[in-house]
Amino acid sequence: MSATALLRECHRLRLHIRELLAEIDRGPRILREHEQELEEARAAHQAHFDAITKLKLKQRDDEGSLKQTETRLAKLEDQLTGITVQKEYTAKLSEIEQAKAKKSALEDAILDTLMQLEEKTAAIPEVEKQWSLAQEEFQRFQAEAAERLQRMKNDLEVSQVELANYEAELPPDLKRVYDSLVRAKGPDALAGARNRICQGCRTAMTEAEFLELRRGEYRICTRCGRLLYPVE
Ligand SMILES: [Zn+2]
Repeated sequence: MSATALLRECHRLRLHIRELLAEIDRGPRILREHEQELEEARAAHQAHFDAITKLKLKQRDDEGSLKQTETRLAKLEDQLTGITVQKEYTAKLSEIEQAKAKKSALEDAILDTLMQLEEKTAAIPEVEKQWSLAQEEFQRFQAEAAERLQRMKNDLEVSQVELANYEAELPPDLKRVYDSLVRAKGPDALAGARNRICQGCRTAMTEAEFLELRRGEYRICTRCGRLLYPVE
């Protein structure tokens, strides 16, 4: 393989390795995002049942209060028949009115709670379904992520061996230049040149320079300092 063809392969592999490493690096953050989604789904599921419990407690309290109010109302109405003084009678009537208003408000509240409970109870199958979908989704993600990570690690290993092999084939003088540039800039130490144009900085070279490059002589871009190789 010519020196420039070797440079092209080294560049391709170094870019590929950089992408793989970046993607492997992103893994933990993506996992955290999925864990957060699962946690939100768990919280929504729990909140639904907490709301039902709270409504049931409120219902029990209101029913207790309603019973008390009804007892008190019956007692007040009973007392009414024994009163002969007009002023006391009026006061008792007012107490009865207040008790009736309270009774009516409690009845409304109980009915309202009942409707909310019915609605929330009817929604349970959907809530369970959403929670179970969220868990399945997370498990699928975990399995896929593990498989993907393994694939990337294998690819990385193969690519690193392949890169080392190509690098070992570089002529010694080119290898020295290559090593020092790559140490400083990684994959960005290299660039293809298409139609005389450096793909790293878009600067054109002369036709003679491009011909040299195509003959297999390496060049360094005068503008950006990248090691060049020709691409068709
Ligand atoms: Zn350049």
